Amino acid sequence: MIDFTRASIAAMNSLKISRRSAELGTENAFVVLAEVNALLAQGRDIISFCIGQPDFRTPEHVQQAAIDAIRQGKHGYTASAGIPELRRAAARYMGDMRGISIDPDDVVIAAGAKPFIAYTILATTDYGVGDEVIYPNPGFPIYESQIRGHGAVPVPLALRSSRAGSFDPGELAACITPRTRLLILNSPHNPTGAVIDRATLEAVADILRAHPQVWVYADEIYSRLCYGEAFASIASLPGMAERTIIADGASKTWAMTGWRIGFAANHLLAPQFIRWVTNTESCASHISQWAAVAAIEGPQADAVAMHASFQSRRDLIVRLLNQVPGVSCHVPGGAFYAWPDVTEACRLIGAEDSEVFRKRLLHEAGVAVLADIHFGARIPGDGQHIRFSYAASEQAIEAGVARMAQFIERNRRG
Ligand code: PMP
Repeated sequence: MIDFTRASIAAMNSLKISRRSAELGTENAFVVLAEVNALLAQGRDIISFCIGQPDFRTPEHVQQAAIDAIRQGKHGYTASAGIPELRRAAARYMGDMRGISIDPDDVVIAAGAKPFIAYTILATTDYGVGDEVIYPNPGFPIYESQIRGHGAVPVPLALRSSRAGSFDPGELAACITPRTRLLILNSPHNPTGAVIDRATLEAVADILRAHPQVWVYADEIYSRLCYGEAFASIASLPGMAERTIIADGASKTWAMTGWRIGFAANHLLAPQFIRWVTNTESCASHISQWAAVAAIEGPQADAVAMHASFQSRRDLIVRLLNQVPGVSCHVPGGAFYAWPDVTEACRLIGAEDSEVFRKRLLHEAGVAVLADIHFGARIPGDGQHIRFSYAASEQAIEAGVARMAQFIERNRRG
């Protein structure tokens, strides 16, 4: 460790950290995770529903492809766009799922789907000139922090319980101004689990046709995790492919979060994305790219089994949550998140809001979840929510929800 002298502390006082960095937002899941880890280190028994990642092992044949790549010396830099084999595989895969044809030259590979959020904002808005980006609220917190960090204006689009965690196209229309540059859609959605149905996508496309300057970032990282309504992409609708950036990846479908492989497709923006990759990551991990080829092209039995498991866990957690006093939970159509309304549960135990409820649930009952405020400002009149990631075993789901029910019963007022 550096031993700072008085002189070096004085020198540091003259150094400035930029406002954009000092004010950059984050994923609060990591803040809660630190809280959970501190409790675990004290020997506390915690059941965690915090983390948005599959709890399965990466399929065996995918692991083997990575080992083979290392053994065959495929571990140097690749082109910033990604290896041609993966761009071809991802183009076919994303195109088949959406019923469109995607040219491999329009596909770019990065270290996860996440970097494309930044690259898209960077490629479609200018800093500090009032360019507006519409994003879902509640939503993946990185949308808002990246919009602000890159000097654009965040315009939240409310997702409502009355629409099962999705939005009203009329409200979207009201958000669009001549300064709107980009609309971010996320389906299936983190944190509400909502899947945007085809009728809503058609309504959105109708609205956008009157605003030809608006790009669409379709964050479809959970595209393979739909349980009822079939997955549909706005990119499939007439006139939408040109302006839509399709973002998908390996993380959620094949339990590959730590491998860091995402892919995005758009004809006009691919060359821009490639330059952003060259300027930042150089390329995604060469080894992981070969693993992703195997994931896409190889047997899908593991992905299908994981999907089935998530679906039965969803059914379980929603059924159990709806039996808890003061809790009501709609059936989420996709991803692996449940978004129960806990307004009445908060009232029952005298918690002033969902964040107080979350903290007490963690400290007094040993159940770790996230609160709605970790996904953006609460929607007025829409109640209090918490988020469960049900990428957890059935035993953990049963025990965790039982603990929550007992916690509410124990603390019930009057
Ligand atoms: N978008 C959403 C909505 C997500 O929930 C996540 C992961 N939590 C990502 C993007 C990032 O995915 P990746 O791990 O592939 O970067």
